[in-house]
Amino acid sequence: MQGTAQEDVFDQAAVHELLKWYAEVGVDEAIGDTPVNRYALPQKTERKQTRPQTVRRRPPATERPADPVTIATALARKSDSIAELKAAMSGFDLCELKKGARNFVFSDGNPAAKVMIVGEAPGRDEDVQGRPFVGRAGKLLDRMFGQIGLGRHQAGSWQSLYIANVVPWRPPSNRTPTMAEIKMMRPFISRHIELISPCVLIAMGNVSCTALIGQAGITRIRGKWNNFKGTPILPMFHPAYLLRNPEAKGETWDDLLEVRKLLRDKRNERN
Ligand code: URA
Ligand code: URA
Repeated sequence: MQGTAQEDVFDQAAVHELLKWYAEVGVDEAIGDTPVNRYALPQKTERKQTRPQTVRRRPPATERPADPVTIATALARKSDSIAELKAAMSGFDLCELKKGARNFVFSDGNPAAKVMIVGEAPGRDEDVQGRPFVGRAGKLLDRMFGQIGLGRHQAGSWQSLYIANVVPWRPPSNRTPTMAEIKMMRPFISRHIELISPCVLIAMGNVSCTALIGQAGITRIRGKWNNFKGTPILPMFHPAYLLRNPEAKGETWDDLLEVRKLLRDKRNERN
């Protein structure tokens, strides 16, 4: 509400006088709305009384919006077998990619394999068939690992492969999964690795490296052994990248020889 012009003039004059008086007595800063009598004797119970009656609490979990990473972590942790993990993941509804995908793509190969490969996400062929790495990149992957005597359909655990992806649903038009998607699916792939318990891990491409070793920049980090919760992990070029850049196949050959060597050492250690 606006006062009359007369009142405004009166108020301004009064405020001006008050400020002038404050300035004269040395009041130059406003520190609170309520005056405090500093000469009053402190009362013993004063502190207690001035404490706010209600303490702000975190609302109970039921009132908080669901955090996908927390939920994924809990689901993954209580999965004690591959079958339980598969069921928990396929029932996880907080990743938007699930809505657009035709199929849930969990894994392929021998669960007893000593080598586990972790890719990025299903593409078109994988989405149609519900199995990882079955398209052109998958065929190249099979040829690559076949060169060092490993295959997903081999029976012996030292000759076989187990294959999964960071994300089990195809992203629209094969876009790269977002950081939020990678983070919410990471607890599942992490548990997946724990349950398979391979001797050697392969992180195929940047998304896998981001999820498992917290680093991207595959051209810089490929071929350098890293460690995922105690398991040696080798970043390698993604076979889809090799299809576009065949000149990188030489480096991939070096990486495959590294895998073969480590596997032989591990096998000898056990015998
Ligand atoms: N690329 C991947 O990373 N995973 C697949 O399953 C297929 C293609
Ligand atoms: N970018 C990727 O994500 N993977 C590769 O292998 C190369 C480039």
